[in-house]
Amino acid sequence: MTLWLATTNTHKTKEIKSFFKNTPTLRFLDLSDINCKNYIPPEETGSTFKENAGIKSAGLLKFLKDSNLSLPKPLWIVGEDSGLEVKVLKGKPGIYSARYSGPQATDQKNNQLLLKNLLGKTDRIARYVCVFSCQPLTENSQELSSSETKEFIFEGFCHGSITVEEKGVNGFGYDPLFIPQGETKTFGELSHQFKESISHRIQALKKLADTLKVEGK
Ligand code: IMP
Repeated sequence: MTLWLATTNTHKTKEIKSFFKNTPTLRFLDLSDINCKNYIPPEETGSTFKENAGIKSAGLLKFLKDSNLSLPKPLWIVGEDSGLEVKVLKGKPGIYSARYSGPQATDQKNNQLLLKNLLGKTDRIARYVCVFSCQPLTENSQELSSSETKEFIFEGFCHGSITVEEKGVNGFGYDPLFIPQGETKTFGELSHQFKESISHRIQALKKLADTLKVEGK
């Protein structure tokens, strides 16, 4: 079984591969395994994580269909959308997490903007959200058409709060600001192993692993 991840985010790929590291029957491909010059990632025009995850998996499916590649089967095409929702900001940055500080956004600029928008706020409750959209192609799928493929959705959440200054260098994105519930340190300070035991991505991956009937961490 092959999982083809519709992402260029190496942090996400690493976390997903690490989750399945004891499952030798699963093989992983991502966008670095196709001719990137010809692949234009679809615009994330959805208004929910679920819609954007579906846009990512459908975009890769269409690309593979148009490319006439010989595909390994069974194959699951996996789109992932994730982000941070802050309660007092009415769920922002949400689906805009990656581009919170504008078109030239970087993790550091996003984190600084978030801290600025939370200045003086005592309610700093937040949660990470992750949604996977998976489109399976079985041995019997003669041709790739989206009408033939079924979409499986898996969601995961990780609850916590936002600190008042960046702490730690582990992880990526908002991790130096995010303190998981029950902890006093940020994901930036906590170990990768710890993050991988409770994160939103791992909660969603557990559901995916259950459906695939394979082992995950
Ligand atoms: P996407 O690539 O469009 O799904 O955007 C994901 C964005 O959400 C990232 O660029 C981060 O800003 C944020 N994000 C999602 N998951 C995590 C995580 O595990 N840690 C830190 N930030 C995350």
